[in-house]
Amino acid sequence: MEDCIFCKIIKGEIPTSKVYEDDEILAFNDINPAAPIHILVIPKKHIDCIAHLSKEDEPIIGKIYSVINKIAEEKGFKEQGFRVIVNSGKDGGQEVMHLHFHVLAGRKLGEKIV
Ligand code: AMP
Ligand code: ZN
Repeated sequence: MEDCIFCKIIKGEIPTSKVYEDDEILAFNDINPAAPIHILVIPKKHIDCIAHLSKEDEPIIGKIYSVINKIAEEKGFKEQGFRVIVNSGKDGGQEVMHLHFHVLAGRKLGEKIV
């Protein structure tokens, strides 16, 4: 998608510090980290948000969680714990309209919202 900042990152038009990449998924460090470790995991296919997922997207969502575990293991925070957050839409606080999974770790995370 042309004006999508994360699609531009996927195409290499905007530089990022990459954490993981395969043919379907990219992970990179958040530019404005909310924790010592703050990684964004995204599908390379442009999907706006959770509300716009289709049946054919179901496998990629499962794969994203496997990639998150792989990263957690490699970065050494799997046992200590981490938090995965997906904001969706305006009320969910989503600013970049390309589905992304925030992975936060490296400190005791604050108050739970739910
Ligand atoms: P959200 O509010 O859930 O849409 O989160 C968007 C996230 O993208 C924020 O945490 C931003 O800091 C992050 N972000 C925006 N632009 C970039 C970029 N160029 N590289 C890395 N992270 C970014
Ligand atoms: Zn996109």
